[in-house]
Amino acid sequence: MPTQFTKQFTQQEPIPEEGIAAALAVMRHGRLHRYNLLDGELGETALLEQDFAKMTGAKFCVAVASGGYAISIALRALNVGYGDTVLTNAFTLAPVPGAITAVGAVPEFVGVTPSLVIDLDDLKAKINKSRVLLLSHMRGHICDMDKLANICRDANVKIIEDCAHSMGATWDNTPSGCHGKIGCYSCQTYKHINSGEGGLLITDDCDIAAHVVMLTGSYMLYGRHLASPPLDIFDKFKFVTPNLSGRMDNLRAAILRPQLRSLSTKIVRWNELYHRVEAGLRGIVGLNVIERSKKEHFVGSSIQFLLLDWSSKKIENVVRRCADRGVEIKWFGSVEPIGYTSKYYDWQYTSTTRMPSSDRVLHGLLDMRLPLTFNLDDCDLIAQIIRAEVTAAYSEN
Ligand SMILES: *Cc1c(COP(=O)(O)O)cnc(C)c1O
Repeated sequence: MPTQFTKQFTQQEPIPEEGIAAALAVMRHGRLHRYNLLDGELGETALLEQDFAKMTGAKFCVAVASGGYAISIALRALNVGYGDTVLTNAFTLAPVPGAITAVGAVPEFVGVTPSLVIDLDDLKAKINKSRVLLLSHMRGHICDMDKLANICRDANVKIIEDCAHSMGATWDNTPSGCHGKIGCYSCQTYKHINSGEGGLLITDDCDIAAHVVMLTGSYMLYGRHLASPPLDIFDKFKFVTPNLSGRMDNLRAAILRPQLRSLSTKIVRWNELYHRVEAGLRGIVGLNVIERSKKEHFVGSSIQFLLLDWSSKKIENVVRRCADRGVEIKWFGSVEPIGYTSKYYDWQYTSTTRMPSSDRVLHGLLDMRLPLTFNLDDCDLIAQIIRAEVTAAYSEN
């Protein structure tokens, strides 16, 4: 009987005891709504915003109900609306085109390279179709941000960054989320900090920040924020902004604050796991690991590899055999999306032209989560199983 892997790829670490204690305190006093504060009380949500602004170096931060909500609010704050076109990655997660559609806009997908980043040549070709790029650092892969920023600057295109998988990452020492006008993050269970659901938005622009605070549903209580612009900025927005109710609450914020404090040590651990699996996958015939730029300090919370130009049948074999041995690999090339693996042309509420070079990458793309409940021995075993099954499938007809 071949060796089996028995841990769960979806099992996160528990909430730190400090977070549980803080959550209990919120539940005991009962003031879960972010604006439900005693005189002089600051509130966990406002404090979380302050903590995150400090961590990223952003001037302003707003905590919201989800990452997808943060993105749609970011689009609205840049006055994207009905009928507008928004450039975005062909390789991303379904909430991204969903957020664009939520504001009545239409996504224009930009291709993906074999390094799993946005295709900058394709971006250049399409840049005049929109005044906003929603750049998704899908699976934490960060493109050459200097080149991208130049392309967008020349065309006067504003950037919103979707950092659902790049919270804590940097490009050339600038935190992911600080390269454009707005950075959006998710605190959903499978991302880098876990409150079940939740999102964060950062910006240095005081008009955008005030607009966003009003949009999230602050009523006239925006003065209770701590990472927010001066009160007079709100005069421009307070009577002309619809309340799109999507705030974060103090319970989630209480759980998140201790997790933010330990994020940098978690990133070290994630990257140890990532590099261990990657080392074990190097040199397998027919398998390409994803090479990354030296300027990219990523968070290895998941790992991808390519079986480029393999037949569907062979890739299916690899996925099935690995699954039989307990290694859960997701394949973006399957005809029907499974779990989260939908592709740009599966989002049939959008219209798009197929991109053969992106399709080639997506067809061969395999993906695995690396939860922190794994250790280095687990990584060795996972890589060993993949090596055996890829090698066996490769030599079959
Ligand atoms: C998870 C995710 C989102 C949306 O986050 P939610 O908090 O689940 O709404 C957006 N983009 C990417 C790339 C994601 O993985």
